Amino acid sequence: MKQIILTLLILPFISFSSFAQQVVFLDAGHGGEDQGVIAVTGVNEAEINQMFVQELKTYCETKGMTVVLLNQGKSNLSIVDRAAFVNNYEVAKGQNPILISIHCNYAKDEKISGQELYVGKGSNAEASKRIATNIQKMLGVQEVKQKALQVLSVDYPAVLIEVGYLSNLQDANSLMNEDDRAVIIQKIVAGLQLK
Ligand SMILES: [Zn+2]
Repeated sequence: MKQIILTLLILPFISFSSFAQQVVFLDAGHGGEDQGVIAVTGVNEAEINQMFVQELKTYCETKGMTVVLLNQGKSNLSIVDRAAFVNNYEVAKGQNPILISIHCNYAKDEKISGQELYVGKGSNAEASKRIATNIQKMLGVQEVKQKALQVLSVDYPAVLIEVGYLSNLQDANSLMNEDDRAVIIQKIVAGLQLK
């Protein structure tokens, strides 16, 4: 009998937690008049970020996450407004919100390639670092960098991912290839799911 009562007491909590899906805020860097950097192939960064975020959203949803896009379509929220949008969004208990901001890199040295990870310097720096380190392991990136970036100044853990170098021809071509983008996306989400 005691066992049954205990089970009945625990059950509601178990089912509650399975409904509390993790909320992932996705920010596609730039947009509107600000198109970011221009790839050696001539494509704008904002265009790639937008494509990447749409596919990342779809993939996160297949993994049971709730995705909120910060700048869908042509709307161009300022960086301050993007952070405010995240902070004002109503999040349910247990949803463990996280912000992922997607950008592309650019370097003078055209040989530099690959991904780069950033976390902010605010009160969520440590929690952000834990998540970024998990993504880092999956992507095989050397380090997680720390920088006081406005878009990462939110009330939740936040990671900025530079998904490749548009100054590098191979990265630039790769980021225009759906299959190649899918490989990076799967690694990012695998990192998000690591505990
Ligand atoms: Zn950018």
